[in-house]
Amino acid sequence: MKFDILTLFPAMFDGPLGQSILKRAIERELIDVRCHAIRDYACDKHRTTDDYPYGGGAGMVMKVEPLTACLEQILSGRPRARIILTSPRGRRFDQAFASELAAEKELVIVCGRYEGVDERLKELFALEEVSIGDFVMTGGEPAALVIVDAVARLLPGVLGCEESAEDESFAAGLLEYPQYTRPETFRGHAVPDVLLSGNHGEVRKWRRREALRRTLMMRPDLLETAPLDDRDREWLRLLSGGQGD
Ligand code: SAH
Repeated sequence: MKFDILTLFPAMFDGPLGQSILKRAIERELIDVRCHAIRDYACDKHRTTDDYPYGGGAGMVMKVEPLTACLEQILSGRPRARIILTSPRGRRFDQAFASELAAEKELVIVCGRYEGVDERLKELFALEEVSIGDFVMTGGEPAALVIVDAVARLLPGVLGCEESAEDESFAAGLLEYPQYTRPETFRGHAVPDVLLSGNHGEVRKWRRREALRRTLMMRPDLLETAPLDDRDREWLRLLSGGQGD
């Protein structure tokens, strides 16, 4: 999958993309991530990329011309790419959205800075605004990295073992069960016996129950849409003190 990122600060991507799983995915050509410096597309001799907002007010707004030139150059080679503008006003990014994007071949991500980008960019390119949460950051670069990371790990071959993306939080509509590794006991805290039992059926049952317990505690909203069977519902009733549905 190809990612093109428009940014004023391309160097911000070097660290995260140069480590671990994303680095390996790039080396193995499973993903191709190109960062485009918006400043290179500025039209004037000072290479201006931002200006004062019409109507007054604090902060600066990213100019539409350099962004347009940069986007047009990218799209000339990728006419069917999906284009995202990072923005706290956008559609909330979540696991389902990541899966949706993982089905694309080409994704272009625009990183805003300052007060954001001139609204006309959105009109000109039918940009889709995407937010990574209800908070405001100084720029869209961390948001772009969040999107690249969450999407890339869903692509075949990016994670070492195919199962690892299937059995975890949100994949089945629940939060993941607790995980442990050696040693068996640490400072008096033991790993639950069932995980050492070698009984795969019991392990599966325990994990399901713990996933339900955690979801009930931390994100009960997820239980409204998670696929549950009668056993799950019975367990949830028990956990909530048998208070019925
Ligand atoms: N004035 C804007 C905020 C600008 S923050 C507003 O009130 O809506 C500067 C840039 O950071 C934004 O253009 C966007 O690209 C990025 N950004 C900040 N918070 C974000 C979030 N929660 N999700 C995605 N991008 C975000």
